[in-house]
Amino acid sequence: MSDSVRSSAELLAHLGLNTHRITSIRQPAFAYKAPQHFITRITPNNPHDPLLKQILPVPDELITAPDFVSDPVGDFQNNPQPSLIHKYHGRVLLIASPKCDIHCRYCFRRHFPYEAHANQRHWQAALQTIAADNSLHEVILSGGDPMSLSEAALLKLSQQIEEIDHIRTLRIHSRTPVVAPQQAAQTQWLEWVKRSRLNLVIVVHCNHANELSPESAHLFQIYRQANITLLNQSVLLKAVNDSLEALNALSHKLFAQGVLPYYLHQLDKVQGAIHFEVSNQEALQLHQALRASLPGYLVPKLVREIAGEPYKTPL
Ligand SMILES: *Cc1c(COP(=O)(O)O)cnc(C)c1O
Ligand code: SF4
Repeated sequence: MSDSVRSSAELLAHLGLNTHRITSIRQPAFAYKAPQHFITRITPNNPHDPLLKQILPVPDELITAPDFVSDPVGDFQNNPQPSLIHKYHGRVLLIASPKCDIHCRYCFRRHFPYEAHANQRHWQAALQTIAADNSLHEVILSGGDPMSLSEAALLKLSQQIEEIDHIRTLRIHSRTPVVAPQQAAQTQWLEWVKRSRLNLVIVVHCNHANELSPESAHLFQIYRQANITLLNQSVLLKAVNDSLEALNALSHKLFAQGVLPYYLHQLDKVQGAIHFEVSNQEALQLHQALRASLPGYLVPKLVREIAGEPYKTPL
């Protein structure tokens, strides 16, 4: 996909924002990247737009703190072999792609050495490990973003997973359905999904109601016709979605598009993301307020990932 807006400086000019109102870092360590569709969801001329905040590299990224580290969730320690991360019982995560369509400034994987892991040459060994472990029932494709794979690669990988008898569920974690929905409608893969014996789950990563568009609604309808279970996880982000209104609107709009809220994550303390942090106390207050205003099925679980814990830990 060729993007018309190639740098954060161009982005600001495109949105009618001059450098007196907002500053960006020209060449951040984690490069600027955003697909055109996502940019069209940003309100021009508003330096506080919640989508803009997620993609614009700002000087605050240079702030360091001892507890904001390069591997906050222990991913470097838990991969038994390249491309596999096995932390939790019954399910294993396969790093399927080194790339994302978007670079989220709060990303906990911004320092992860993807290139070394997400190479397709590691897949055969990874699949052998999964096939040899009867305790596994679910494979989770993550990344990077698995939807950034070519359709042929995604299809082949899915079919190989289906061949492993003890795997019942294939789960895909992806931000592509909201940030670049036209890229996530992979027709051949969806035809395979309809015929597959596997339970298919897509966990969408959407943080704000404004990210949901007519295009994402259409895509989710296609997914549901293929019997895919649709869930969402968000990260609680300061000045993006840390208000009752924003979280309420997100849950309602997700549901209107056929997606149920699953997790609301406390930020992983990754170096460069300190300006997105919301305190545990504020997070708990917001979550309580959400409980008081939404039906139970629209309240996401508020969790934090703690390295070494056997599950995502409720706050
Ligand atoms: C988050 C995560 C999972 C999935 O956890 P669920 O609670 O099942 O959503 C699985 N493996 C790894 C390595 C993870 O980080
Ligand atoms: S899509 Fe996910 S993995 Fe990719 S940059 Fe954003 S937060 Fe990180």
